[in-house]
Amino acid sequence: MTKLEDNIARAKGFMASAAENGVMNHIDGASIPATSGKTFEIISPVDLSVLAQVAAGDAADIDAAAVAAQAAFKIWSKTPGSERRRILIRVAEAIEARADEIALTECIDTGQALRFMSKAALRGAANFRFFADQAPSSEDGEVTRTPTQMNTTSRRPIGPVGVITPWNTPFMLSTWKIAPALAAGCTVVHKPAEFSPMSAKLLVEIAESAGLPKGVLNVVNGMGETAGKALTENPLIKAIAFVGESQTGSHIMRQGADTLKRVHFELGGKNPVIVFDDADLDQAVDAATFMIYSLNGERCTSSSRLLVQANIYDDFCARVAEVARNIKVGHPLDPETVVGPLIHPIHEEKVMSYFDIATSEGATIAAGGTKVGDTGCYITPTLFTNATNDMTIAQEEIFGPVLTAIPFNDEADALRIANDTQYGLAAYLWTNDLNRAIRMTDELEAGMMWVNSENTRHLPAPFGGVKASGIGRDGGDWSFDFYMETINVSFPRAPHKTPRLGS
Ligand code: NAD
Repeated sequence: MTKLEDNIARAKGFMASAAENGVMNHIDGASIPATSGKTFEIISPVDLSVLAQVAAGDAADIDAAAVAAQAAFKIWSKTPGSERRRILIRVAEAIEARADEIALTECIDTGQALRFMSKAALRGAANFRFFADQAPSSEDGEVTRTPTQMNTTSRRPIGPVGVITPWNTPFMLSTWKIAPALAAGCTVVHKPAEFSPMSAKLLVEIAESAGLPKGVLNVVNGMGETAGKALTENPLIKAIAFVGESQTGSHIMRQGADTLKRVHFELGGKNPVIVFDDADLDQAVDAATFMIYSLNGERCTSSSRLLVQANIYDDFCARVAEVARNIKVGHPLDPETVVGPLIHPIHEEKVMSYFDIATSEGATIAAGGTKVGDTGCYITPTLFTNATNDMTIAQEEIFGPVLTAIPFNDEADALRIANDTQYGLAAYLWTNDLNRAIRMTDELEAGMMWVNSENTRHLPAPFGGVKASGIGRDGGDWSFDFYMETINVSFPRAPHKTPRLGS
C-alpha cells in the first residue's frame, strides 16, 4: 500500500460516521438535525463524490443555539479563569491527540494538501494553548488615581457571541476565533462555511470530550443567507466575529445594525510582494511562490500581486514561472502534493474565468492557466506577466494559485502600485536596504507587513487588515478586547462633596 492509499483509507475511516449519519448541528451538548429536517449535500473537491448530508439550519436552530449559549454564559462567565484555562488546555491536548484525523478530514473536505493541513491542525491546538494561558488574567485592568479619586478599570465577557467562518483552512481559522472567546468567558454559536463543515463538528466533539461544558460551544450549519443572517440578527448574540469576503462583511454590518452588534471582520486581500533589485533574490523567489501557491492560494494573506523592479522583472518572472511549472498538483493526501484541488466547482469556475480575463486585458499567461484532468477541481499554478495594476487580475481577489506580476521603476512607483487597491491586509517587502524598508513600511497601506520573509506568525502580535480588509485585530490581548466589555468604577479618595444645585 502506498502512503497515499494508506491516507485515503484512514480518511475514509475517520469520515465514515459523517457519511453514514450526516453532519448534525450541535446545540447544548447534543448532535441534532435541523429543526426543519432539511439537509444539504457536501462534495469532495477531489472527485466531486458526495461526502455527507449536512443539517441545513435556519433561524429556528440559531434561536435554540443562542438560548443554550445564553444559559451556559451565566455559568461559564463566572467560572474562574484558572478553571477555564485548565479546560482549554485539555482541549488543546485533545486536538493534538486527534490532529491526524482533523488534518485528513480537512484535506478531503477542502482539497488542501496534507503537508499544510497537518500543520494547520496543530496550529489549532496552539491557538487554544495560547489563549487559555491568558484566561486567568483576562479580567485584569488598571487603576488610575487623582488626589481625590480612584478609578478601577476591569473587563467582563460581553456575552454569547457568533463566530462565522469561511471555507479555507476552516479548523485553524475557527480556533483562532473560538479559543479567545472561550478564554474570555464568552459562549459561542459557530456557523461554519457550507462548503467545508466537517472539522467544526470535530472541534465541538473534541472540546466537549475534553470537559467543555455543554452549551458553551454550539454549532449551527447552513447557508450564509439563512443561518448566518439569523445569527447576526439574533438579539441574544452580543458580537459577531466574522472571517470571509469583504462584501459579506458589509451585509453583516447591515444585518447587525438593529441589534447594535459589535463586529470584528477579517476580510479579503490583494496583497503585494514587492521585490527590489538589491534583495536576496533566491529567497524572494521562494517566498513569493510559497505565499501564492501553498494552501492552493486560497488564503487571505496570499501574495497575489508580485511587484518586481523593472530591471530584474523578466529574469525574476522567469524563475517564478519555472517554480510554478514544477509544483506538484495532485491528490491532497499524497505527501508529495503541493497544490490540491480548489474547494468547489463553483470556485474553480470563478478562478478559471480569470485566465480569459487576463488575456483579453493584454496580460500574458507565463505559466499554468489550464485545468488538470477531467475529475476534481484541479488547475495548474498560474503566473500572469506583462500586467498593469488597473487590470481586473490585479484588482480582484482571485483566491487561487494565481499570481499577477507587475513591474515598477522605483520606490515611489512601487508604493503607488501597492496601495492602489481597495484592500489592505498584508504586504511583503524584499530589500537589503534598511532605510528603504523603513520608508516603505511607513507608507504601505496594510495591517501586517513582513520584511524579507513570508507570512510567519507570532500569536501575541496583532493580526488584521486596513481598508476593505477588515475591522479590528486578533492576537495577543486584542482578541480579549473584542470579546470583553471594559468597565470603570470610580471611588472617592477623600471626603467628597457634590456641588448643591440651587441656593
Ligand atoms: P464568504 O464571505 O462567502 O463566507 C464566509 C462565511 O460567511 C460563510 O460561513 C458563509 O456562509 C457566511 N455568510 C455568507 N453570507 C452571509 C450573510 N449574509 N450573513 C451571515 N453570514 C454569511 O467567504 P468565503 O468565500 O467562505 O471565504 C473566502 C473569503 O474569506 C476570501 O475573501 C478571503 O480573503 C476571506 N478570508 C479572510 C481572512 C482574513 O483573516 N482576513 C482569512 C481567511 C479568509
